[in-house]
Amino acid sequence: MPIDIPLLTRICEAPGAPGYEKEIRKLVLAELSGLADSIKVDAMGNVIALKKGKSASHKIMAAAHMDEIGFIVTHIDDKGFVRFNPVGGFDPKTLTSQRVIIHGSKDLMGVMGSKPVHIMSPEEKNKVPKITDYFIDTGLPKKEVEKLVSIGDFVTRHSPLIELGDCVNVKSLDNRASVFVLIQTLRALKASKRKPAYDFHAVFTVQEEVGLRGAQASALQVQPDFSFGLDTTIAYDIPGSTPQERCTALGEGAAIKLMDSSVICDYRMIEFMKATAKRHHIKWQPEILSAGGTDTANLQRMVAGGSIAGAISVPTRHIHQTIETCHKEDLSACVQLLSACVCDLDQHDWNF
Ligand SMILES: [Zn+2]
Repeated sequence: MPIDIPLLTRICEAPGAPGYEKEIRKLVLAELSGLADSIKVDAMGNVIALKKGKSASHKIMAAAHMDEIGFIVTHIDDKGFVRFNPVGGFDPKTLTSQRVIIHGSKDLMGVMGSKPVHIMSPEEKNKVPKITDYFIDTGLPKKEVEKLVSIGDFVTRHSPLIELGDCVNVKSLDNRASVFVLIQTLRALKASKRKPAYDFHAVFTVQEEVGLRGAQASALQVQPDFSFGLDTTIAYDIPGSTPQERCTALGEGAAIKLMDSSVICDYRMIEFMKATAKRHHIKWQPEILSAGGTDTANLQRMVAGGSIAGAISVPTRHIHQTIETCHKEDLSACVQLLSACVCDLDQHDWNF
């Protein structure tokens, strides 16, 4: 199945730091038009699209977070350089020579500056950089910066989408890859006229990168019986990795999560997902992520009595950098797997 590159481009390039998902939410709402029976936005900003199923006896929820890691402006110094705090988990070394956008009274480009290597002492050269070593240079003097930028403005990474071999490369594939998968799943259901087994709540969550917060509020509201977290995962299939470290590999298919640091997926759900992939000839690989959590944790627990939870992950190289990379066929496999799972849920024995 070919990937809709223009849609993926729009989704990935839209800004949306945690708590400031306005632009990406606007885009998601526009793309959902005609794909669901009802669409609402809750008080926190989560988008909840309901597609009615064959039966209303149970509820299915799938959640993809819309937010991306970003920064918040904390200070403008005397020379006009902008200081910031990270919002979400950044590896400081990945900030070197990055272009960013300050979302001030109007968008302003900036670059992440730090001390040139030529004037570093031997000790400094050997040290791992800290977030506080960096500042944002807008090329403007303090007076001009202050006209456009205020303390509390959000900053996101700048990196347009390119096609890279069989892959796509852009900022924010974590987790816009899954936002894309969820929208494409609703499109696929509409095109094939297949109905989900039960009422299907497709939820685009906020503030995942700072602690799965939107998923908590939306799961409390939806109260699903069955749930699917949708997120990216690490593909450490690169030089220097050992086979036991790789987690997943690009091009090996949709990843069926077994566990991460926040959730142990329900073994009945894992069996169902594997059997569904096999039945529909969808390429899949298992995923165990030893560090890092996903919305799946709150989908499983923020329901009285819990929900039967699993997760589909999109293998991603260079995650949490501006050069995140996913394989087009994996994206396609994720759409196929989610579509098949929501339609076939009533054909499984869910007894313990
Ligand atoms: Zn994520």
